[in-house]
Amino acid sequence: MKDVDIHRLRDLYPRLWRHDLSTLPGGWTAIAERLLADLNEIQPSVPGEYGSPLFLLISFHGGFAVAFVSPNPELGTWNAEKSLALIEAVRRFNAATSAACEVCSGPSYIIVKETNGSHQQRLCQHCSDERLEKFEARSVQ
Ligand SMILES: [Zn+2]
Repeated sequence: MKDVDIHRLRDLYPRLWRHDLSTLPGGWTAIAERLLADLNEIQPSVPGEYGSPLFLLISFHGGFAVAFVSPNPELGTWNAEKSLALIEAVRRFNAATSAACEVCSGPSYIIVKETNGSHQQRLCQHCSDERLEKFEARSVQ
């Protein structure tokens, strides 16, 4: 994620922001922003209260991201409807990251793995072709 987006989202959602979010690739910034907006709408931060009304954790590795959320029973007003809305917001995030290119947000086409297996990335057809061209150009030299 670009620094400008990290600062913007951190300023917009200071109680929800987690460092994990900054590790997400730039192509998934809009997906992360949608998750933060959804969570903030479900249960906004409580004025005058320190802390977040819900806990958020993002696990990101090798072309996959999974969000976990848990209501903070000490803050906000929780009910069954809000709990279901949380599940839906997480489902939307998890499905969207599985369907979008990490670089350009285009439709996911392939998960590219470098030959030594150290780095794995979800890409669209265009970004995959570009990556292959760069790789082949390096190999020819
Ligand atoms: Zn792409």
